[in-house]
Amino acid sequence: ASWFGHVEPAAKDPILGVTEAFLADPSPDKVNVGVGAYRDDNGKPVVLECVREAERRIAGHLNMEYLPMGGSINMIAESLKLAYGEDSEFIKDKKIAAVQALSGTGACRLFADFQKRFLPDSQIYIPIPTWSNHHNIWRDACVPQRTFRYYHPETRGLDFASLMDDIKNAPNGSFFLLHACAHNPTGVDPSEEQWREISHQFKVKNHFPFFDMAYQGFASGDPEKDAKAIRIFLEDGHLIGCAQSYAKNMGLYGQRVGCLSILCEDELQAVAVKSQLQQIARPMYSNPPVHGALIVSTILGDPELKSLWLREVKGMADRIIGMRKALRDNLEKLGSPLSWEHVTNQIGMFCYSGMTPEQVDRLTNEFHIYMTRNGRISMAGVTTGNVGYLANAIHEVTK
Ligand code: PLP
Repeated sequence: ASWFGHVEPAAKDPILGVTEAFLADPSPDKVNVGVGAYRDDNGKPVVLECVREAERRIAGHLNMEYLPMGGSINMIAESLKLAYGEDSEFIKDKKIAAVQALSGTGACRLFADFQKRFLPDSQIYIPIPTWSNHHNIWRDACVPQRTFRYYHPETRGLDFASLMDDIKNAPNGSFFLLHACAHNPTGVDPSEEQWREISHQFKVKNHFPFFDMAYQGFASGDPEKDAKAIRIFLEDGHLIGCAQSYAKNMGLYGQRVGCLSILCEDELQAVAVKSQLQQIARPMYSNPPVHGALIVSTILGDPELKSLWLREVKGMADRIIGMRKALRDNLEKLGSPLSWEHVTNQIGMFCYSGMTPEQVDRLTNEFHIYMTRNGRISMAGVTTGNVGYLANAIHEVTK
């Protein structure tokens, strides 16, 4: 008997499939602006100096015991300070239930499973567009999905009026997924004033905000500034959920280190919620991996290493901001009649170029430039060496 004869190959992941195609292309001109991982100006992966130093300090001292079910206590404490603020009253009052998670993805998934288990009738409102994996995560957790409008294709900016309408029209007490900063894939974030209005409307509607914060520090170069949206909601007295990831801002992609936190009404509730999050993690992976968590807590727990990290995050953000400018300048110099202002207005790792799937196909087939078909350019893959080539190819397929 064939046990698995009915198993069809799964659809390719729209993001990870791009890298496969890139690797298979023998052209010396090829450029990968598909993947969401930082590269230096030579197109090489980067390990931060603060991470190397933390590794040196850890080397030889790490025992290989299991972490507690909820993960590293120190890593969690440092993560909460980053998200909620160094002197947060919520931390002092122990109102936050928090566990170490398998990076940002794992934090989102743990929350989605928690939502399904304890609020079985709830739904999740997800922005259009969003990181494609958000849909998979809440689908596999069996939480029904609704969408809300976010991006305006004509202005290549925020569709604030529609966003506010959709918040108002959602049933009271709905769950919303919000990107805390550097929205993926659009690079479009609400302004501070707009966040205040969103927070106000959430209060009116008694909605619950779940912040996915995969890029803290990557948007502006300053993790404090990038936490602004969360801080506004906290000031307004919301209870929130938050997924943090150290993949991008510490370059710890493959270490899978992150944190899920849920701000509760009081300490008692936080203890209960944390115990239930651990209960969900236990049959899936028992407890999270130790090495990445130790790197994070070593860096954030040491003032000298932390300030080195802050300089290095800023360095990465600044290089990306510089490449946005270079890409736009090049397109304008080539005489493109289109507006490329959005390239420099958008922030974070991605530029939502506005190119059509057909134009992206031409970039790939004629110019060996690889990116997702939604026109998303990973600015982290743009370098001094390829920005001219990229601009020229974009000009060719959009004119
Ligand atoms: N959330 C968003 C919006 C992302 O863009 C990403 C990564 O691309 C993640 C979460 C999760 O990344 P990781 O699981 O590597 O931390």
